[in-house]
Amino acid sequence: MLGPNLTAAARRKTRQVRVGSVLVGADAPISVQSMTTTKTSDVDGTLQQIYALAGAGADIVRCTCNREEAAEGLARIVPRSPVPIIADIHNNHRMALAALDAGVHGLRLNPGNITDPDKIKEVAAAARDRGVSIRIGVNAGSLDSRLYQKYGGATPEALVESARVELAYFEEVGFADVKISVKASYVPLMIEAYRLLADTTDHPLHLGVTEAGPGVAGLIKGTAGIATLLAEGIGDTIRYSLTADPVEDLIACPSCGRAEIDVIAVANAAMAAFGEQEIPLQVAVMGCVVNGPGEARDADLGIAAGRRKGHLFIKGRNVAVIPEDEMVHALVHYAERLLVEGADAVLASSDLEGARKAAEADRAALLDEKGADANASETAVELIRRHLRDGEA
Ligand code: SF4
Repeated sequence: MLGPNLTAAARRKTRQVRVGSVLVGADAPISVQSMTTTKTSDVDGTLQQIYALAGAGADIVRCTCNREEAAEGLARIVPRSPVPIIADIHNNHRMALAALDAGVHGLRLNPGNITDPDKIKEVAAAARDRGVSIRIGVNAGSLDSRLYQKYGGATPEALVESARVELAYFEEVGFADVKISVKASYVPLMIEAYRLLADTTDHPLHLGVTEAGPGVAGLIKGTAGIATLLAEGIGDTIRYSLTADPVEDLIACPSCGRAEIDVIAVANAAMAAFGEQEIPLQVAVMGCVVNGPGEARDADLGIAAGRRKGHLFIKGRNVAVIPEDEMVHALVHYAERLLVEGADAVLASSDLEGARKAAEADRAALLDEKGADANASETAVELIRRHLRDGEA
């Protein structure tokens, strides 16, 4: 979340929408979104990236949902994600319906890609019934060709009209939980389109510059567009390509059906224990040893619970096993050791094989106890398959 000192002008008044646990618009802090680059069907790889993005400051993460395997991946990812997940829909409205079956917290639709009003309304009605918000994501590069011709190009007016046409379809089915973006890679066009949009709607706006490019140049280009608008009081959530570099904060898993401890309580106790200390490490508190060390593989230091024990890990490698009630103390102790000795020295002095075997034994026992589908993800996968089959029939 971004702090309040961003706007030179008063922040534009908007209605508020929800993306899972994150509120967007009105008086909510400006949230930061980013996007995974993995195949969404790669559940472990995608979760690893989501954790890294959350650690780098993302409040919401978007994943592509372009095919059935991706929708099935979402059914397995959503319960284990530390932040709300938005499904990015391309050309197939049935992927939007499948993503809703998977339990996503939001959808992104591009009006230039799905143009059939009946399909648009079907998705909006399904999102309405599930209480899931949608972003209307207009993109200058894929503007509806009819609007392109009408305006003689991707002008600010054309981008705004594209959003308004889509919104009108949503309103026909009584759906208004909508954020809007009108992105372009040409920054002056993007700025003008958002200014025009801000004058014509009270829906929250998602800011971003498309194809900003890599490295510092991309960062500056994105910032030029986003910061200009934020300073004018326009914008409620922003998209940034975040790097997964370690930052100071602490991430906690969402404690799904596998959780062995009260993750939030342990995370809060750890925050209190770290207190005012400057700890430039990414620290993770994970609810179970079944998936915790893998999901938070990029964290400098983490602890995962299992059968009344805490399994400490450094960069995904198990280094020690401690009693559950000493987890917080151990996190602080190992954080201090990492800062003084460095990761290589701590790893070298640890019984890595013993820690790995203990973690593996508790992992196997937990899989035995709770089964392989503690989150009932496979039920959602079955639903996705059935609905997609029905749609084809
Ligand atoms: S409880 Fe385990 S599987 Fe569930 S989100 Fe936490 S670490 Fe992941």
